[in-house]
Amino acid sequence: MISKSVCLTAILAVSSYQLFAQDKPKPEDTEFYTPVPPKVTPGATCSAPPSDAVILFDGTGEDKWVAASDSTKPADWIVHHGILTVNKHGVGNIRTKQYFGNYQLHIEWRVPKNVTGSGQARGNSGVFLASIGSGDAGYELQVLDNYENKTYTNGQAGSIYKQSAPLVNASRKPGEWQSYDVVWTAPVFGADGNVQSPARVTVFHNGVLVQNNFSLLGPTLYIGKPSYTQAHGPSPVKLQAHGDKSEPISYRNIWIRPL
Ligand code: MG
Repeated sequence: MISKSVCLTAILAVSSYQLFAQDKPKPEDTEFYTPVPPKVTPGATCSAPPSDAVILFDGTGEDKWVAASDSTKPADWIVHHGILTVNKHGVGNIRTKQYFGNYQLHIEWRVPKNVTGSGQARGNSGVFLASIGSGDAGYELQVLDNYENKTYTNGQAGSIYKQSAPLVNASRKPGEWQSYDVVWTAPVFGADGNVQSPARVTVFHNGVLVQNNFSLLGPTLYIGKPSYTQAHGPSPVKLQAHGDKSEPISYRNIWIRPL
């Protein structure tokens, strides 16, 4: 006759085995089939827009842009031979008509071969990753000739202006086309207007990582310490017509993928 205690031991052994078998992790526990990522056809080169990109400038016109100071006024930069060049004597900064939250952006820019000036007054422009007003209100990724031009490191090409110097100087010579590829995570604000999560940015300059998921301290400030004082939602992308006297910067092949 089998004792009760032996039976109990056997039952416990079977139960714990079953329990163990149930709890043992399986490969499929971490294999997810939905949601399916949408299929996107890559461009022929890394700079050509993929199939789902919003084209902001393809060389044919600036209809996707308006004056940053007055959205009822058209952008009046110079479009010639498929290139968009800053007009320093017109409406000033221009911004996209469309508003964006998180996105991937590609933009190409060229410092004129005959550029003059020094420091911040040598091919200065900028890409405001989110424009939050007219003028220079927003978060500026600096555009500048820094091939052989010294300035403060957190104000050189590839910097988040006055917040974060680029990891390396990947500048090309004046006269050569350069590119920025940007991953922008917009800041999130609570109902009380306080920032819940700061903006973050990753930037490749000519394919080289120059900003690695940098957390911005707030919108760009020329003077003083930046902080988040103004809650905002999706915003336009803005290009800077800087007031220096050097020859103007040109842009081409601008596209964006809202995320
Ligand atoms: Mg600038």
